[in-house]
Amino acid sequence: MRALRKAGAKVKSKGHVPVRMCASCRRRRPKRELLRVVRTAAGWELDPSGKRPGRGAYVCPDNPACWQEKKLRRWAGAGAPALAAALTAYLGGENGEGTHLSAGQRTGNGKQGAIRAPGYDGGGV
Ligand SMILES: [Zn+2]
Repeated sequence: MRALRKAGAKVKSKGHVPVRMCASCRRRRPKRELLRVVRTAAGWELDPSGKRPGRGAYVCPDNPACWQEKKLRRWAGAGAPALAAALTAYLGGENGEGTHLSAGQRTGNGKQGAIRAPGYDGGGV
């Protein structure tokens, strides 16, 4: 366990919410709002489960600006183009509409539009 707490980040009780920083825009957000990517021998890969070993980074899944190759290049290096393509494919392009479901969110009811709505994790019907 690393202590990532920095002076600027105010932690307000309510249990412990893990916060991570988007590698592209550097915004701090709750970890569950971010998409993890992990560095492998083959390059960067998406890690929706957040459980893969290795050096990881986080990006905002709802902010296409954060998956642009130009931004990724600052931290993903040579793997940036492939990662940008993977993120775009996975996250569904410009409009960010859910054409995918990350692991654990598969409800199988075909209600795609609802997936990205705020507070979706309470759903599941
Ligand atoms: Zn971001």
